[in-house]
This record gives sequence, structure tokens and C-alpha cells, in this order.
Amino acid sequence: MNSASSRIRSQVGIIGAGPAGLMLSHLLHLQGIDSVVVEARSRQYCEERVRAGLLEQGTVDLLVESGIGERLKREGLVHFGIKLRFEGRTHRIDFKELAGGRGVTIYPQQKVLQDLFNARLNAGGRIFFDAATVTLEGIAPSRGEKPAIHFRSDGAAYELACDFIAGCDGFHGVSRPSIRAGALSVFQTNYPFGWLGILAETPPSSDELIYAHHDRGFALLTMRSPQLSRLYLQCEPDDDVKNWPDARIWEELQSRLASKGWVLTEGPIIQKGITPMSSFVVEPMQFGNLFLAGDAAHIVPPTGAKGLNLAVADVQVLAPALVEFYASGKRGLLDQYSEKCLRRVWKVQRFSWWMTAMLHLFKADNAFDRRRQLAELNYVTSSRAAAQTLAENYVGLPLD
Ligand SMILES: Cc1cc2nc3c(=O)[nH]c(=O)nc-3n(C[C@H](O)[C@H](O)[C@H](O)COP(=O)(O)OP(=O)(O)OC[C@H]3O[C@@H](n4cnc5c(N)ncnc54)[C@H](O)[C@@H]3O)c2cc1C
Repeated sequence: MNSASSRIRSQVGIIGAGPAGLMLSHLLHLQGIDSVVVEARSRQYCEERVRAGLLEQGTVDLLVESGIGERLKREGLVHFGIKLRFEGRTHRIDFKELAGGRGVTIYPQQKVLQDLFNARLNAGGRIFFDAATVTLEGIAPSRGEKPAIHFRSDGAAYELACDFIAGCDGFHGVSRPSIRAGALSVFQTNYPFGWLGILAETPPSSDELIYAHHDRGFALLTMRSPQLSRLYLQCEPDDDVKNWPDARIWEELQSRLASKGWVLTEGPIIQKGITPMSSFVVEPMQFGNLFLAGDAAHIVPPTGAKGLNLAVADVQVLAPALVEFYASGKRGLLDQYSEKCLRRVWKVQRFSWWMTAMLHLFKADNAFDRRRQLAELNYVTSSRAAAQTLAENYVGLPLD
């Protein structure tokens, strides 16, 4: 230990206050297990960061059952279908009919985080914000050392001693790179495009999401509230928002989303950003007493709206495993953590890849590929079995 560090202790040390880290801390608290969260950014930054906005039924159920679903129940927009638009026609995938009555809920990631921060801090939860120089020690499986997280916050140095570390610090975090080289297998594919996303102050022009396949590239209409539209355009992976003045964005959205008799309403754009797209998984999601969860372990392209939901699904597996350990000393569920999560992760990877491949214009695209994509879209919108596959994956597969 660094002599200048203050030593603190918790049963579980959590790196990252995103959906995975905060939800884990909340679930553990409900079971009487103490955790400390170490977050690199400020609370305000985390609560204002515009990201995901679509919750699977299982995520909604978890938020409600764990006592933080009041605002979600009031403000969440429940959807029982999505629309696929191609060749100027619109086809609805009906979740009520095809996915056993389950649906999805539009509720922004910022609000999920606000609800979780409130719950944790009101319950006396310890969260260190603006943490710098975060390092991990004692995670190697064979050495029998105790894990610890070292960091600086508010001008002071800390050593957080714990039994387990949950690496919930996203794709660019410190947890995954702290694992010794060669211990993880990496599976990755990058896509030759990115998404330009905007938030616009205008009521959504559709009551359900519209996924548009178009010769100029993919477009998506979604929403964050009855007054706020969220829209996306396929763009170059290394594109710059400076290339996208508002007029060009609306012009492109009008072309790609066009459908006879339907009007896309425009409004002031209050946020824009570009996200490159990749699929990424590490195996296993565990190294000694370090457990990776959420984007720290896997990334999906956003076409299937799965990133946040997958992060929450991971900690839904990790929390009971830790509960079992503290109740009985058994590591059975902890040892199964990675395998259990990866089964779901790969199914979600497959679905996200499939949606992406069906709807986007690929650089190496050719007439054959375009015909094949249209055949796929025609099949999905005319075969009940194919539509059912889309619907049940979209609303979320049950936990194994
Ligand atoms: C720009 C963008 C847009 C997205 N849009 C969508 C979408 O429309 N739909 C969808 O489903 N998904 C979307 N996603 C994905 C979704 O937001 C993520 O999958 C989800 O946030 C994952 O949650 P997480 O808790 O695993 O990681 P994160 O939300 O990334 O949280 C990780 C936390 O760890 C913190 N951290 C990082 N490094 C450190 C460190 N060294 N020490 C301490 N803390 C650290 C970060 O500040 C962050 O708060 C988007 C992602 C991005 C980046």
C-alpha cells in the first residue's frame, strides 16, 4: 500500500458508474452486500451523456422489481412493434402477436442513470466521482492476493481493498487491459460505416421506430420522449460532425425515410455525434477475482438496441453469484458467470450483426448484395416465422 493513501474497504469494488456498475451496486445493496463505485467522470457528465434509449422487457422488469421503476412507469413509452421501411413501403413487425405480448420501452439511458444514482446515494451508497489514475492489483487467480483498486479523487489517494472487483468501466476502461496478455481471447469485427445521431426538439413523426433501408444508406427514426426525436443516419466510420450541417442532415433524413403520404417533421437539432460501429467480445469475462460486465467485455452495433440491455443482463447474472458466495462461501455461480453470460452475448451479437447486415449499405456493396438484402427484408416481412425471430430477439431473449 502507498503510505499516503487512505485505505477503505468494501466487499465488492466496482469500476465505472454506467448502467452495469450502478445496477450491480444497487442489486448487491438490496441483498445486504456492500460495494464502492469508482467513476472517472462527474455525476453530471454521466447523467447528461446521450446514449441508448430502448429497454427490453427484462430490463424494465428488473428496474421495476428492484424498486427504481416509478418514473420509468410514468414516463416510459411502451412500444409493441417496429416498422421496416424499404422500397418506399412500410411493414410493421407486431410484437404483441409475435413475441408473446412483450414489448420494449423508450426511456433514455440518462434517466436510467439518474434513477440509479438517486437510489444508491439516498441509500448511503459510496461513489467516488472524477477518479483518476485508477489501477487494479491482486486480481491474478493463482497468487492468492486480495484485490484492491487504487485511485485519486478530490485531491486524495485511496486504496480500496475488496474481495472482488467488477470491471464495469466500458470499452475504454482500465479493467480489461489490466488482465495479463494472453489470458483473454478477443473476437472482433469492424463495420465500414458509423452512425450520425441527432437529438431534435420536435415530436417524433412516428409512434413507433422506423428502420429504413435505402440506396443512400440506412436511417433510423426513434425518440426519447413525446417532444424529443432521436434520428440516425449511416455515415462514414471516420466522418466528422463538421461535415454535417443541420440542413444536410434533414435533407438526407428526408430522402432516406421518405414514404408516400408520410411527413418527417423537422425541428432544432440540440445534439449530434458520430459513433463508429464494431462487434467485440472477450472470452472469458472473468480473470481471478475480476469480473468484466457490459461494454468492458463486449460491444454490439446499435442496430438491435442491445448495448445497455446486455450490460444489465450481465449484472443480473453476477449479482446472484456474489450473493451465493457471501451466503454460503460457494463459488459455483461465480465460476459459471462467464459461460452463462457469453451464451446470451453471442446470441445478441448474432442478432445485432444480422440487423446491421440486412439494413446498411456496405462499402463493397454490389447489385447482388442489394438484391439479397431486399430478398431478406421481403422474407422477414412476409414470413411469420422470420418476423417472429426478429420480434423475440428485439424484445429480448429470456435469461438462460
Ligand atoms: C455514443 C454512444 C451511443 C450509443 N447509443 C446506443 C443506442 O442508441 N442504443 C443502445 O442500446 N446502446 C447504445 N450505446 C451503447 C450503450 O450506451 C452501452 O452499451 C452501455 O452504456 C453500456 O453500459 P456499461 O455500464 O457497460 O458501460 P458505460 O455506460 O460505458 O459505463 C462505463 C463507465 O465507466 C467509466 N470509466 C471508464 N474508464 C474508467 C476508469 N479508468 N476508471 C473509472 N471509471 C471509468 C465511464 O466514465 C463510464 O461512466 C451507445 C454507446 C455510445 C458510446
